[in-house]
Order: sequence, then structure tokens, then C-alpha cells
Amino acid sequence: MPRYVQYTLLGKRRWGIASESEVQGLRGDLFVGDLQPEGDPVPHGSLALLPPSQPSKIVCVGRNYRAHAAELNHPVPQEPLLFLKPPSCLVGPNVSIVIPDSQTQLVHHEGELAIVMGRRAKHVTVAKADAYVLGYTLMNDVTARDLQRRDVQFTRAKSFDTFGPCGPWIDTDFTPGDQRLTVTVNGELRQSGRLSEMVFSPQELIARISRIMTLEPGDIISTGTPAGVGPLLAGDVVCITLEGLGSLSNPVISEES
Ligand code: ZN
Repeated sequence: MPRYVQYTLLGKRRWGIASESEVQGLRGDLFVGDLQPEGDPVPHGSLALLPPSQPSKIVCVGRNYRAHAAELNHPVPQEPLLFLKPPSCLVGPNVSIVIPDSQTQLVHHEGELAIVMGRRAKHVTVAKADAYVLGYTLMNDVTARDLQRRDVQFTRAKSFDTFGPCGPWIDTDFTPGDQRLTVTVNGELRQSGRLSEMVFSPQELIARISRIMTLEPGDIISTGTPAGVGPLLAGDVVCITLEGLGSLSNPVISEES
């Protein structure tokens, strides 16, 4: 289960491969496929991890779990409901989500499985979709729910800086199946669902999205959130866990601090 992380060393972004307790630094680029070990392994805790990809775009999917569509009083979409988040919203594991208090009174967590594309994809079939995937990671599609309800478009509600925690790594061996995805806030269970409950599978999403826009290596597709979305407040710690993949944890602060 190779798990690739990114972090900064001497001002440069670099790749590493994470084991249980350590990260082995690598020379080269995962997307080029020329990675070589470099230097000695270091303990996880000594590195500040970055979001594991620098996408040209983050494509998100709304209401892709029936129970979540129901809790927001929406029907299940007949086709994937797509929207974009800007790459500028991305932050890595353990980096603070900043609540823009002056503009929103209701910020929600949305824990999601995210696909990281490995090859340029255009008009890909469902059967061939897996060949275009580099691996999987986790995404918190943080949302200002009051602004989402007020606006026709999702752009403002979904796009604040820090509203895209992503990580901790790209797992290149993970295969989505019936794994359970959960979200806790301060250790209390909020969201829970199984990947098998998705309305549109990852392969179906890649096929449908690649008919609209060319997906580039590193692009992220966030596959939607299970039921149980709820508010985030300054002082909270929100943690997404996916069986077989890992956990993504982020504290929450107010813009005033
Ligand atoms: Zn979402």
C-alpha cells in the first residue's frame, strides 16, 4: 500500500513515501514516475504535510449519497451534480480551517473520498476509468451552508481559503468498495456511510466528467459526502477516517484569531 505524501524541505515541495511511523524522502515526481529514495527516513511528526496534489481543478459531486440528499431535503440527482472548488482552498493535514465569521454563520464539514487523476483523461469509458487514476485521498468539502442556500451557484459557499483540507496521502493501492467513511468532531461521531452507497461510482464519475472537461494529472474529484453533515465552530477538531486509507484531521479557528 504505497502512500505518497508531499511536504516542504528547504523551501522546496518534495515527495515522500509514508510507512507506519516514518516518511522516506524521494527525489523526482510521482506523476513522471521517476521517484528514487533520497536521505534517511524521518518520523511522521517532524514533517508538516502539504495537500498531496496540486490540481488544475477540483471537481466536486453534490448529493452522491441518498441519505445525504434526503437530510438536505433534495431528491437524488438523475445525473451527477457537479461543481468546482478552486485549488486556492486546499490545505494539508492538521492545518487550520479558518471560519470567515464576518461573512457566514453556518459552516459545515463534508468528509469525502477523493480521486487523484494520474493521466490526462478525455472521453474515458467506465470500463477503462481505473487506468487513469493515480490513487485516492480524503477531502473535507467545507461549506458555508447559509451562503450556499442564499446563492444560486455554489462558488462562494465552497471556495473560501482553507475550505479544502486534503490528505494525508495518495494511496495508490486503495480500491473503493464497501469501506466505511466516518467524520468526527471533537471525537463525537457526526457522519457515517459506506462507499458502496454512492449513487455514482468513482468510475462512473470519471467517465461522465471526462466527457465535459479534460482531466489533467493531479486533478481531484471529490466524490460527495454521506449523511450527517453538521456545523464547525472555532476550537473544534474535525477528523475524517476511511477504512483502509487513513485519517485527515484539521482544527478550526475563527478569522479573528
Ligand atoms: Zn461535498
